[in-house]
Amino acid sequence: MNAIGIIPSDRFTYTYVLKACVVASLPKHKEIHAHIFRHGYHTHIHIMTTLIDVYARFGSVQNATCVFSQMPQKNMVSWSAMIACYAKNGKPLEAFDVFRDMMTHVLLPNSVTMVSVVQACAALGALEQGKLLHGYIVRNGLDSILPVLSALVTMYARCGALELGRRVFDQMGKRDVVAWNSMISSYGIHGFGGKAIETFREMIRHGVSPSPISFVSVLGACSHAGLVEEGKQLFDSMWKEHKIYPSVEHYACMVDLLGRANQLEEAAIIIQDMRIEPGPKVWGSLLGSCRIHCNVELAERASRRLFELEPTNAGNYVLLADIYAEAKMWDEVKQVRKLLEAKGLRKVPGCSMIEVKRKIYSLQSVDEINIQIEQIHALLLKLSTEMKQNGMYVPDTRIVLYDLEEEEKERILLGHSEKLAVAFGLINSSKGDPIRISKNLRLCEDCHSFTKLISKYTNGEILVRDINRFHHFTNGVCSCGDYW
Ligand SMILES: [Zn+2]
Ligand SMILES: [Zn+2]
Repeated sequence: MNAIGIIPSDRFTYTYVLKACVVASLPKHKEIHAHIFRHGYHTHIHIMTTLIDVYARFGSVQNATCVFSQMPQKNMVSWSAMIACYAKNGKPLEAFDVFRDMMTHVLLPNSVTMVSVVQACAALGALEQGKLLHGYIVRNGLDSILPVLSALVTMYARCGALELGRRVFDQMGKRDVVAWNSMISSYGIHGFGGKAIETFREMIRHGVSPSPISFVSVLGACSHAGLVEEGKQLFDSMWKEHKIYPSVEHYACMVDLLGRANQLEEAAIIIQDMRIEPGPKVWGSLLGSCRIHCNVELAERASRRLFELEPTNAGNYVLLADIYAEAKMWDEVKQVRKLLEAKGLRKVPGCSMIEVKRKIYSLQSVDEINIQIEQIHALLLKLSTEMKQNGMYVPDTRIVLYDLEEEEKERILLGHSEKLAVAFGLINSSKGDPIRISKNLRLCEDCHSFTKLISKYTNGEILVRDINRFHHFTNGVCSCGDYW
């Protein structure tokens, strides 16, 4: 529809047109945005809030922020919209900041706001903040609202406190499918595949029909635990027993399940036989599995498709380059890097979050901002040297993407954000407290073995959540059983 052509100067129509235009393109919204300003409707809270929602849906956080800051007046709904925009678009720290700001304006958050804030907290992995929010929810009588409770279950699990999430779940008087799904996926990210399946069956026994998301959660759980046969049976039961057609998400889970278990050929056959277009999720799953098992041939096939489907997703190029690097095919690594540069794409920088004494810190691989950075580097160098000397640690330099001298590769590895976060945790946490970190990418092999050794060497407990799942390091062992 031609949105601009039909806009009259009526605030109800603006809201209507904006909502109807969610299916339209982003430039259209910008035109409407300009139109709204020209006609002086930018003082209407309702119209501006809808505009924030629309920008949020398109992931255009900057535009949403701009609208929000230009609003002369804000109500509860507009604050909530801004928090949700940040929370849903991978900016949890900003979501928290807006929440704090809102509280200083003496506005009492409602359940919708609380869900967004709890989700932001889950994304950060900030347990202490999460506990504070939980307390706030109870004090303000929001603890009987199902979406809030389900968000708490997920938040606790994503902050590494699975038992606390289970406690919230057990105390729920009524449970809808969202609540069950939260519990199932919580077990999944902690690697308890059997428990996830058990909970899935319990849900059905309680008369709650599984939703498509229930299957994504339970299949994901099977994948993390390597339960191939169970996963296949569940996948088969989707249509046969529950009349749910598998979607791209479900196929991606199956490809991941088989691929992780090194049944890559079977995973490729599943893709071949799909009745719907596989899309980037499915091919991405296959490429990820090729990375784990270093299968160059299949990786090339998957990435060819991915480069067509997502020409600007740097992650795909980096994965392929990783696979070539592991296979020591340096010329190919160079070619992929050239392709990446030619397209002007940049690798998403590794970033790790850690909460120390109720404050959240974000560390990046190239972090020079942190005041303790020298102390952190010195501690990492000391620990790695000591662990190398006593034969515990051998840096896994295969994963460095450049053909460099060994020493230089080791230096790059020591600068990975999760190692910085571990060192930051060792320096600043109270003795005996577990160190909790969340990372935006998959944990690399070297950081994984390094963190295992640190847990043994320092006799401490370290919990790391990466993009896939939880890793619980104690006494030199990780709960994932090196399968992630
Ligand atoms: Zn690493
Ligand atoms: Zn692990």
